[in-house]
Amino acid sequence: MRLSVVVPCYNEESGVELFDAKIRETLDLLPVEYELCYVDDGSSDATLERLRGLAEKHVGSTRYVSFSRNFGKEAGMLAGLREATGDAVVLMDADLQHPPELIVRMLELFSRGHDQVIARRTREGDKFVRSTVSRLYYRMVNKWVDVELTDGVGDFRLLSRRAVDALLSMPEYNRFSKGLFSWIGFDTVTFDYRNAARAAGETKWRFGALLNYGIDGLISFNNRPLRMGIHLGLALAGLAGLYAAWVTVAAVVGGVTAPGYVTLIVAIVGLGGLQMMMLGLMGEYIGRIYYESKRRPHFLVKETNVPPSTFSGPDS
Ligand code: UDP
Ligand code: MG
Repeated sequence: MRLSVVVPCYNEESGVELFDAKIRETLDLLPVEYELCYVDDGSSDATLERLRGLAEKHVGSTRYVSFSRNFGKEAGMLAGLREATGDAVVLMDADLQHPPELIVRMLELFSRGHDQVIARRTREGDKFVRSTVSRLYYRMVNKWVDVELTDGVGDFRLLSRRAVDALLSMPEYNRFSKGLFSWIGFDTVTFDYRNAARAAGETKWRFGALLNYGIDGLISFNNRPLRMGIHLGLALAGLAGLYAAWVTVAAVVGGVTAPGYVTLIVAIVGLGGLQMMMLGLMGEYIGRIYYESKRRPHFLVKETNVPPSTFSGPDS
């Protein structure tokens, strides 16, 4: 049995060597052949040099790919999955927030025939605001989206070869992994672990990035938000009709005075805002069509130690 571990790294110079040492400690004890597939996501620090060093130190069990610029974690994971050759692939972060020991548990569950083994982190130790917002977000998303997304479930998971192949068969440019993982299905099992603090460096997520990620999650999988726009429009038009009838009756019965300045402004601003939002929403979908239709590669490789024959995919 061969195991691949895919690790996207962005500016992880301070942590990647520690990560490598720790993960090998765990993997060396397991009855598997393994390879580590690092992806340098266009880091601006010395991550690439560190990876070159690791590849020299552990010839044969280290693969790395380095992007021409930062393409984002999704692209990093995609590259790693393409490059991985194992019968099972574990996806994990380079900051040791995903405890390497858990791979033992994952393999055990894998050997019982599960295709996706998910490690779900508990939100202990998270900032209160962040965890509350997350919880609300997932409740909302699950109402709207066709695929099931779970709070605390990230990218830390083991995938069987056929699950990996299923993921790779999805060519979309706009990749929202949480949704893709859920969309492919297969026999899935989840277990909990306690969240660990970052070993070194700092998180690359800013509030804006999280917000955009959230929007991606909502609209990557269906057009239900557009349908909701139609419903909202219908409801507002209905209310406007009722209001018009009421005003007419009131004018006939009580004569015309000229109040209603506040009502007018509120209506104009409120409707304007709603229209902007719906326009933005439509624009978002059209933008996606635009990006998909360009059929650009998900990433460009600057340097790799993976032989070209094994590193292939629809993009390369
Ligand atoms: N990462 C990446 N490209 C990016 C941002 C992050 O490859 O543009 C990697 C990062 O190096 C780490 C993982 O994705 O291995 C998770 O990032 P981070 O720890 O910053 O996210 P958090 O744990 O705070 O959600
Ligand atoms: Mg992290």
